[in-house]
Amino acid sequence: MGLFSKEACVFCGTEVGMLKRSKLQTKEYICNECKRKTNPFARMDYTSKDNAQLMMDTLAQQAAEFEASFDSAENRFQSAERSFKTWDLGSHRVQYRCNTRIGAFQMISDKFSSYEHIPVFYFDMMIPYQFAGDNENLSDIRNHEIMDVNAEYVSVQANKDMDGNLTSCTVTIPYNDICIREIRLSGNVSSDSDKEIFYDLAKRINSDRRVWINNGIYDAERKSRMQRRNLGDTAAAALKAAVTGGNVEEAVKQGIDTANAIEDGKVKQGFFGKLFRK
Ligand SMILES: [Zn+2]
Repeated sequence: MGLFSKEACVFCGTEVGMLKRSKLQTKEYICNECKRKTNPFARMDYTSKDNAQLMMDTLAQQAAEFEASFDSAENRFQSAERSFKTWDLGSHRVQYRCNTRIGAFQMISDKFSSYEHIPVFYFDMMIPYQFAGDNENLSDIRNHEIMDVNAEYVSVQANKDMDGNLTSCTVTIPYNDICIREIRLSGNVSSDSDKEIFYDLAKRINSDRRVWINNGIYDAERKSRMQRRNLGDTAAAALKAAVTGGNVEEAVKQGIDTANAIEDGKVKQGFFGKLFRK
C-alpha cells in the first residue's frame, strides 16, 4: 500500500493510482472517471458505495425532470427562469437557474465541466445541517425550519489576510444530503466589487427560496409532510384545550380546515407557527 500503489475502482474495476481515485466513506475506491457520474458537490468521504451508485442512477433523471418542469411554465416570468445566469466568482464561474414553482435549482461551476450531469438541488433540503440520527423531535423542528420564510440560509464569508486585505469569499449553502451537507463556492477576490458578486449570488438563492415558499405550490410528498405536521399540531391543540378547559371542538375544526387548505394548496408559510402557539 505505497504511495504509488494502484487500487481497483469498485464500480468499473480499473486499477488507478492515487491521483486518479478517491476513497469512499465505505473504504472502497472510486476512479475519477466514475466520479464524474456523481454529484460534483458530493464529498466522497461522506459517500458510501451505495449512495454513489444511487447518484449515478438518478442524476440524469432528476436533470431531465427539472428541464421538463419549465415546459409547463405559464407566463413569461416563469419561462425566463429556464435560462442559466452566470456569476463570476474570481477563480471560477458559477451557473445557476431555479424553478420557483417546484422549489428546485440547478447549479454548476466551470471547475466541474467534466462532470456528466448538472445536479438538481431542492429547497426542502436546504436547511442548516445538524448531524444527528433519526430523531423524531429533531425532524419535527426541521420541518418547521423548512417553512421559515424569513430564514436566509445561504451565507457569505469574506476572508482577509493579516494586513486586512480581502483575499477570498465563500458562499455556503447548507444542504441536508448525506453525501453533500453543504455546498461551498469559494473564489479569490481583490476588491469590494468582486465581493459583491458573492453576496449577489447568495441573495438570489435566498430570494428564490422565499418566492418558492410564497408560491405555496406543494407536491404530494410535501403535502403529506404538512398533513402529518397538522395532525400532530391538531392533537396537541386539542389536548391543550381539554386540559385547560378550552374549546376542543374548535381546535379539531381548525385542524380539519387546515387539512383541507393543505389539500387545496392554500396554506401559506407561518401558519404552522400560529397553530402551535394556541
Ligand atoms: Zn471507475
